[in-house]
Amino acid sequence: MISLQEVSKSFGNGSDRYQAIDAVSLDIAVGSIHGIIGASGAGKSTLLRIMNVLERPDSGRVVVNGQELTSLGGRQLREARRSIGMIFQLFQLVSNRTAYGNVSIPLELAKVPKADRMKRVQEVLRFVGLEDKAKLYPARLSGGQKQRVAIARALANSPSVLLCDEPTSSLDPQTTAGILDVLRHINRTLGVTIVIVSHEMEVVNGICDAVSVMEDGRLIRTYQNNAGRAEA
Ligand code: ADP
Ligand code: ADP
Repeated sequence: MISLQEVSKSFGNGSDRYQAIDAVSLDIAVGSIHGIIGASGAGKSTLLRIMNVLERPDSGRVVVNGQELTSLGGRQLREARRSIGMIFQLFQLVSNRTAYGNVSIPLELAKVPKADRMKRVQEVLRFVGLEDKAKLYPARLSGGQKQRVAIARALANSPSVLLCDEPTSSLDPQTTAGILDVLRHINRTLGVTIVIVSHEMEVVNGICDAVSVMEDGRLIRTYQNNAGRAEA
């Protein structure tokens, strides 16, 4: 379970101070796919980054799998974050490393021995359907393939949670459908809890079990969405 308790976050100071997140509380069930929608600037991306304390809230608590991340710092926080993968709209691959090299990064940071690392990289690349692209650099990959590499990289350390920031917003509809299939597959077969920030209603309604709506830094409502489970 991911539990946000009265989290607030402002940027800037003085007359320039801006309340990006305003006392948001939210519980996300283990094993669910949870969507966060709202207009541009509503605070969706900031809220997602608060879930792994990439953005530290000014107040409130973030609890993931029973661990209060907001009470951690330094190495403890880095270690706790290994159970939380993240993907982005523009993939954020390292351009001078191959697909293999990108997926290897989190395993290198976790000091996984080389033999285990090689096995794991091949395993996750196979899981996203890219075992034959291991040697290619990002520039040689399509948008959908880049996002699959990013997903493989996020899964390398076997996280229990995957945070997705506009994961399909730079992809065409057909490629989007493929990525949503991968995310569904990760949720169903690995039991990974998935949080998806998106401004695309079809994406959120097509895949999410529950959806939270944000407006001006506030969470205005959360609804259950049975279509997410029923489909595919
Ligand atoms: P959304 O993802 O819904 O588009 P964001 O979470 O990106 O919204 O942004 C919410 C508000 O917080 C926006 O007004 C944005 O400009 C502001 N904001 C986000 N990150 C920062 C930052 N690092 N510094 C200053 N302002 C920021
Ligand atoms: P990068 O340039 O991103 O570091 P490399 O392709 O050079 O990535 O690979 C880094 C390490 O991983 C090297 O030791 C390489 O031999 C090994 N490696 C690369 N691709 C594969 C693969 N498909 N299977 C097994 N090991 C690989």
